[in-house]
Amino acid sequence: MSRIPLIAGNWKMYKTGPEAVETARKLASLCSDIHGVEIMIAPTFLSLPLVAASVEGTPVKIGAQNLHFEKQGAFTGEVSADMIKATGAEYVIIGHSERRQYFGETDALVCKKIKSAIRAGLKPVLCVGETETQRDEEKTILVLDKQVSDGLKGCGLDELKDLILAYEPVWAIGTGKSASVDQVQQVHTYLRSLLEQLFSSEFSSQTRILYGGSVKPENVKALMGIEDVDGALVGGASLDAGTFIKIIEYNR
Ligand code: PEP
Repeated sequence: MSRIPLIAGNWKMYKTGPEAVETARKLASLCSDIHGVEIMIAPTFLSLPLVAASVEGTPVKIGAQNLHFEKQGAFTGEVSADMIKATGAEYVIIGHSERRQYFGETDALVCKKIKSAIRAGLKPVLCVGETETQRDEEKTILVLDKQVSDGLKGCGLDELKDLILAYEPVWAIGTGKSASVDQVQQVHTYLRSLLEQLFSSEFSSQTRILYGGSVKPENVKALMGIEDVDGALVGGASLDAGTFIKIIEYNR
C-alpha cells in the first residue's frame, strides 16, 4: 500500500497575516515542481483565508491548528470546523501537545474534535506523544495506546479514511533534540499495529503516520527513511520558506 508522504508545517502563534502570506507565497513558488509529496502549512486562524487565497492552485495545502467541536453557538473566541473548511483549508491539527499541556485538552475533548472535523470534511491530523517523564518511566506505549484509543473512540472505519496520525514526543518538540531513528521506528511500528488492532489491517496499512519533533533539513532524510514514517509535522523549521523547502525536498 503506497502512502504519499505529507510534510506539514505548524506555524503556531507566529506571523501576522501579511507575514504569513509572504512566506506562503515564497514557499509556493519554491514548490512548483515538487512531486510525490503533499505539502501543508497551518497558519493561525486569522491568516487562514488570506493564506489559502494566496496559494490557491499551487501544491501548498492549508490546515488549521485547532477547532471547536460544536458547529456554531455561543462559544466566544472559538472557531468551528465548518468555518475552517469555508476558508479553503483541507486539514486540521488536533490534540497537539501544546493544546493538551497549556489548554487542558483531554483525550475525550480531542475525540469530539476529531468527529467534528470529519463531519465537516476536514482531514484530521491527530497528534500523540509522551513526555520525557513518561518515557523515562517506560510508559510511552501505555500513553500512546490511551491517546489513540480514546481519541478515536466511537469513530467508524468509514469516518476515518482521511485520518492522519502524528507521533510527536513532547520532549522533542521545539527542543532541537529529535527522537532517534530506533525510537521513532519502534513507536511507529507500534502505532501501525495498534491501528490494525483497533480497526483493520487495511486501515492500518493505508493510514499515514507522521513524525514530529525537531525535524530539520539535517535530520529529515534519516527520519523519513524509517519504515512506517509517512511524513513530518514540522514546527520551528517550517517558519522560513527556504528552510522548509529543504525538508520538503528530503528525497532529492
Ligand atoms: C510541533 O510543534 O509540532 C513541532 C514538531 O515543533 P518543532 O518542529 O519545532 O519541534
